Amino acid sequence: MEILIQKENLPLLEHLLEQEAVSFTRLYRENFPNVENHHQIGGIDCRKFDHTQGELDFGKILSKQELAVTYRDVKSLVHRFLDIPTLSTCWALYSPEAEEDHTCFYRWSALHNWGSIHLRRLHSVDLLPALVHEYAHHAQRDSIKGMGLPYEPFLSDGPSYRIFKEGHSFAVERAITQQKYVETGNRGYLYDISDALVFLRDAYIFVSEQHSQKPKRNLLLLGRLTCGDWMPIDEYINSVLQHFDPHCSGGALFLIEEFKNRSAKDALQTICREAVHGRYVFS
Ligand SMILES: [Zn+2]
Repeated sequence: MEILIQKENLPLLEHLLEQEAVSFTRLYRENFPNVENHHQIGGIDCRKFDHTQGELDFGKILSKQELAVTYRDVKSLVHRFLDIPTLSTCWALYSPEAEEDHTCFYRWSALHNWGSIHLRRLHSVDLLPALVHEYAHHAQRDSIKGMGLPYEPFLSDGPSYRIFKEGHSFAVERAITQQKYVETGNRGYLYDISDALVFLRDAYIFVSEQHSQKPKRNLLLLGRLTCGDWMPIDEYINSVLQHFDPHCSGGALFLIEEFKNRSAKDALQTICREAVHGRYVFS
């Protein structure tokens, strides 16, 4: 957290936020070219909002057998991406619990010494990033248990550790999903990692507050098109400050690192790899 709230990150957050908002807005309008007032969509009941009903191709919902094949691919992608040997057992399954909570999650069973990924039924293009994210949590767990390598600030069970875990998983998810987009040309994959916009916006609000600065309203309003974005901006700022989430801080932290290392080839991959092997030092 100390690394994220440094004052010199404010202009970087502003820059990244603007950049991300421009690409997201373009994608959103590609997906819903015929909606006249895009802000109206956000005003509609979130539970009824379905981005897969737009023009972009999000694939179909996979059967259990198809899920098993995709999961096998995801595992080898993550192993290769992080340069890690085979990991301990981790199952991936459609779970009623995940369906009910409207989320996907990773769980570790100390009793059985295995991990499990609980998924809700998503379209295949949405499923891949979710699987990568949760499997990266398993890789973190294994590297901590097996190699004992990650460096000290991230080993504690406190908030910094959660920030690291979520930021790292998000970064692996983002990089592998971008690779998938390059391979397939399917822009649905890019839509899927647009969480980055919310992470950057929320981190910008949070870091501004730490330095008693008012976040620039025009930046906060950029790309506010999706579900939940209907909230008046002051109310939104308050809600972020009250419930700032490790996904946002971690995601923003890794995006800032990627930007700082942008001249290096495959910067995000190097950061993710080094971090899971306990060798990365944040700049
Ligand atoms: Zn996570």
